[in-house]
Amino acid sequence: LGQRISSAVSDLTRAPTLDEKAFDGMVKEICNALIEADVSVRLVSGLRTSIRKKVNFKELGQGVNKKRIIQKAVFDELVSLVNPHAEPFKPKKGKPNVIMFVGLQGAGKTTTCTKIARFYAVRGFRSCLVCADTFRAGAFDQLKQNATKAKIPYYGNLLQPDPVVVAREGVEKFKKERFDIIIVDTSGRHRQEEDLFTEMVDIQRAIKPDQTIMVLDGSIGQAAEAQSRAFKEAADFGAIIITKTDGAAKGGGAISAVATTHTPIIFLGSGEHLLDLERFEPERFVSKLLGLGDMAGLVEHVQSMNLNQKDTMKHIAEGVFTVRDLRDQLSGIMKMGPLSKMAGMIPGLSNMMQGMDDDEGSTKLRRMICICDSMTLKELDSDGRILVNQPSRQVRIARGSGTSVREVEDLLTQHRMMAGMAKKMKGGMANMQRAQGQL
Ligand code: GDP
Ligand code: MG
Repeated sequence: LGQRISSAVSDLTRAPTLDEKAFDGMVKEICNALIEADVSVRLVSGLRTSIRKKVNFKELGQGVNKKRIIQKAVFDELVSLVNPHAEPFKPKKGKPNVIMFVGLQGAGKTTTCTKIARFYAVRGFRSCLVCADTFRAGAFDQLKQNATKAKIPYYGNLLQPDPVVVAREGVEKFKKERFDIIIVDTSGRHRQEEDLFTEMVDIQRAIKPDQTIMVLDGSIGQAAEAQSRAFKEAADFGAIIITKTDGAAKGGGAISAVATTHTPIIFLGSGEHLLDLERFEPERFVSKLLGLGDMAGLVEHVQSMNLNQKDTMKHIAEGVFTVRDLRDQLSGIMKMGPLSKMAGMIPGLSNMMQGMDDDEGSTKLRRMICICDSMTLKELDSDGRILVNQPSRQVRIARGSGTSVREVEDLLTQHRMMAGMAKKMKGGMANMQRAQGQL
């Protein structure tokens, strides 16, 4: 989708004269791309109207950068679509915050529950998990395994078939033990859909959650709109988590879910691993959807700076991106300046550095480089997995570099994101390099 939209915009800028006809054609192309990306037809037609209204061609003066204005209009409209202007729930320490997960079977509830419990645990909340899925055989085992891996206390009761009772037992037990975050996982399948919804409402009544989160599989496409509406009508929820954004998900489903339910997305699940969780940020999400802030732009710039980045380029062409490649990119950026502009070209980094001035930004970069420099050669030249899977290595590196485990984790997240992009760019980059006669 990003590609189609960016190319629609650049087709327009390549056109010798930027007239109203070319503009209409571009809007149409963007709308088609959005529908193909599973944004609902209803939403897209609203979007078309507001872009037309916003960009009044006749009023644009001479010499104005029209391409910029159009790009900005599309971007702003999409951002406002995924931003419901509703504040998501913020748990407080020192009191029990009960969070209930709902969603269809296979959506990713159990996986995401543990990710969220861990997310809060590393931020100093006492977190725990309750398995109220008594429907699926093996549900408790799955939760137990995940929780044990993440070192999160859990509760379940295999002898009790009634999920409402188990939910109540677990919440009461953990409230007594003064936990801050009590997460209740529920079942997602029933013989009859009505039974599922009745069960959800019964559990909600019994445990009175401070927040209910709906987990939505990001790859279900156009079905997202109807599914989220049905859940919203049955058991009101205050937040959405979209999972499987690492796979075939096209992003449009997420937009439809927010727009239909007026409920904020709070996190994105980006893989099966415990750490594959990203905070949802509307601007970043839309940039990605539109293909802005892409790695190709960065690589091009690095090339034009004539720095010695040959190895990284070659790696990316092969779909590989080691931790050392990230380190080289970071130190390259430090040499290039001005920092704010450069950081904007690395996807994700601009977000991390938001609100920092150039000094603070360089400090942050320097710390990231220190982290890399505290790694062993084996770690540096790895794909990062040994670091993610072995927290003891992270502790050692944090200590060695005078940073925190949190910062090491952030660096690994940044690396994973870029490695994912490198994998996707594999073919494309090779072609680009060949075209430039570099290989
Ligand atoms: P539940 O039935 O809603 O509890 O769903 P599960 O948590 O059991 O997840 C169903 C499947 O989706 C499992 O194989 C998970 O590993 C996988 N899964 C969950 N979240 C993600 C994600 O963000 N990305 C990917 N690729 N797989 C995921
Ligand atoms: Mg489950």
